[in-house]
Amino acid sequence: MKLDRATILKALETITIAGEGKNMVESGAIANVITFGDEVVVDLVLHTPAMHIKKRAEDDIKKTILELVSSDAKIKINSKVESRDFGTDKPEIKGKAIPGIKNIIAVASGKGGVGKSTVTANLAVILGKMGFAVGILDADIYGPSMPIMFDVETEKPISINVDGKSKMKPVESYEVKILSIGFFTAPSQAVIWRGPMASKALNQMIFDAHWGELDFMLIDLPPGTGDIHLSIMQSLPITGAVVVSTPQAVALADAKKGVSMFLSDAINVPVLGIIENMAYFTPEELPSNKYYIFGKEGAKNLADDLQVPFLGEIPIVQSIREAGDYGRPAALQTGSIIETIFEEVTRNVVQEVVKRNQFLPATEAIKITTMAGCSAVKGK
Ligand code: ADP
Repeated sequence: MKLDRATILKALETITIAGEGKNMVESGAIANVITFGDEVVVDLVLHTPAMHIKKRAEDDIKKTILELVSSDAKIKINSKVESRDFGTDKPEIKGKAIPGIKNIIAVASGKGGVGKSTVTANLAVILGKMGFAVGILDADIYGPSMPIMFDVETEKPISINVDGKSKMKPVESYEVKILSIGFFTAPSQAVIWRGPMASKALNQMIFDAHWGELDFMLIDLPPGTGDIHLSIMQSLPITGAVVVSTPQAVALADAKKGVSMFLSDAINVPVLGIIENMAYFTPEELPSNKYYIFGKEGAKNLADDLQVPFLGEIPIVQSIREAGDYGRPAALQTGSIIETIFEEVTRNVVQEVVKRNQFLPATEAIKITTMAGCSAVKGK
């Protein structure tokens, strides 16, 4: 086909950018296309700093021109990131911000038992040590573990009066504010809660609670992709999601589904990155000995494949498990190797949040762009 501007633009109309809904040309992402002989220069303007979206858009442009227009084309892409000026075309915002909460991070995993809650608890205490005000919303209806991990199993949130309204006061432990579905029901009962009941309880823990000022709220999501995820993503402005996986193939396959759910057009939540938990076994007294029980760098490779940031690896250490059961997150141990490991991962998470917030408001609720995507996620 002729290598001219019009033919190229027509071809580029077949590409959609994640989260944009419209095709690449319609959405205004193609600022210009110039051709000189077999050379093509495409100016691309994106509204997200997410590297994986930029890389995917560039790859798609090259592939499409080579396949649909000319296999001899020499393609150069100039990419630029611009913050979005919604103007009068402001998208419909679902959900409402919680006053005083600056960043909401959803912690997810595909498979259960990969250490999502352990990672959430340790990220929270390190954020606290860094001087941030932190809260955890334990939304894992299948196994709410925060009350045990923070040794507050026997406590119950009390009701306080805030500006004439009764509000639930989160329980506090190691300077982390916590609300968990586990405070209201025995763990064995939580599992039989139907979706709407769980969503209602979660809504109360979010909007009828007095969280105060928080720099970070971490949400410990149930494993997998389901109704609870959709309901939380619709009712809250999520800053970004962190996906936890072990390097094992079965866990990775499910982690991939988790990442796809967040990046789907229907959910459209930025993925801050993947954390590899149980990356290797290390005896605490011999930290240089590493045994790759579940395979090596599986989650790191997955992050590379999906073009999302890799946030670091956490080894299997006996004291991480013991500390969880005992009710004192292991990273609280000052000077320990575990503290150092979690510090590095937490720094990476904060860095990704900062990058994301440079381009979007601190928290912005997701907009539902297609119902088709919703039912795909719901049908899981
Ligand atoms: P999830 O929230 O994904 O279901 P949990 O955080 O409850 O998983 O972890 C499952 C089990 O694995 C718990 O007993 C926990 O203490 C243990 N565990 C998690 N991460 C580690 C780790 N890095 N080292 C040792 N044990 C771990």
